[in-house]
Amino acid sequence: SYVGIHSTSFRDLLLKPEIMKAITDCGFEHPSEVQQVCIPQAIVGTDVLCQAKSGLGKTAVFVISTLQQVDVVPGEASVLVMCHTRELAFQIKNEYARFTKYMPEVKTAVFYGGTDIKENEKMLSNKETYPNIIVATPGRLNALVRDKKLRLGTVKFFVLDECDKMLDQIDMRRDVQEIFRATPTNKQVMMFSATLSQATRPICKKFMRNPLEIYVDDETKLTLHGLRQFYSKLSEAEKNRRLNDLLDELTYNQVIIFVKSTVRANELSKLLIECNFPATAVHSGISQEERIKRYTEFKNFKHRICVSTDVFGRGIDIERINVAVNYDMPDSPANPDGSDKDSLAQAADTYLHRVGRAGRFGTKGVAVSFVSSERDEAVLKSIEARFEKKIEEYPVGGEGIDV
Ligand code: ADP
Ligand code: MG
Repeated sequence: SYVGIHSTSFRDLLLKPEIMKAITDCGFEHPSEVQQVCIPQAIVGTDVLCQAKSGLGKTAVFVISTLQQVDVVPGEASVLVMCHTRELAFQIKNEYARFTKYMPEVKTAVFYGGTDIKENEKMLSNKETYPNIIVATPGRLNALVRDKKLRLGTVKFFVLDECDKMLDQIDMRRDVQEIFRATPTNKQVMMFSATLSQATRPICKKFMRNPLEIYVDDETKLTLHGLRQFYSKLSEAEKNRRLNDLLDELTYNQVIIFVKSTVRANELSKLLIECNFPATAVHSGISQEERIKRYTEFKNFKHRICVSTDVFGRGIDIERINVAVNYDMPDSPANPDGSDKDSLAQAADTYLHRVGRAGRFGTKGVAVSFVSSERDEAVLKSIEARFEKKIEEYPVGGEGIDV
């Protein structure tokens, strides 16, 4: 089912032919609702603050809108996109690659931590390789700006994806602010997320001038129609057995399993492999090169199962994932990310983003959350209350669940 898609065509958006051709090559037939609402205003330079639910194509909004407007000057950076994780930056860079297929003059680069900064510096010291579009995580980008390796005085488009995550975390916000100050006053600013609390909105708007504001104030509208959501009550000791059963019962294409720590991600993926489940793991305890390799392999269907911490909780788009499992319920007891958001609200945000990895672009999916403590139950209750969504008990044997 195509949720949120109107009958308008991409043709109506009056985009450059080279972009239209790339859109066709991507197999996109109609713009999604968020694309129909935002692109017409974004391509005339309006600032955009946009909340729209997971998997409905926010990335293409800023990729298409920036490419439509960009005037490529060799050796100058025009577009700057930042996001909160390295794999997401890598993914967005690949989206730019898809959409610039017929714009060979556009050079795109991605910068993030855990890689050799000398390589970035080398690229930036040569006019031939100097990027026009930069996708980055804030820490590495700020290091390049501070060391004067990167000049942002020519930036005309400033985009934050997963903006609430970036601005709620104090460290990241500081980097973003420093980078923002290094860009010219006159530029277009766009920010996106599936979650944008009342408290975060004014923080975002401080970076903008008279933005188009798109909010989902009725939070019940944030749940994905194609996604069936279940919980399973059990003890900690029963989790592996239950997961095993679940993987036997559900006819999945690809599964993402969320755990709360890198140690647990390693152990669970090891266990799954021992049980002959084709699993991989991604978390911050793995070398960056290996993380990207595993991300790419998972995206290319080399593994059916990925055990991950919250590094894959947001933004990551893997088409074939149709089952998401919260092996560990999302939680944030003492706001470890340094934000001042209420911890239950934050856990519910995390939940919404995690389960949104399944059922992308209106496709069918299943989410199962393991509930093994009183705290888990409290988190579950707060999710149900906030999204007015009854999360059902996972039926014995997965009976009646058709993914
Ligand atoms: P969001 O950022 O809103 O969660 P994404 O930008 O990651 O969503 O897009 C989700 C998926 O939908 C991606 O695989 C993307 O290629 C696909 N997609 C986006 N727009 C369209 C469209 N108009 N038609 C078909 N598929 C689309
Ligand atoms: Mg996204």
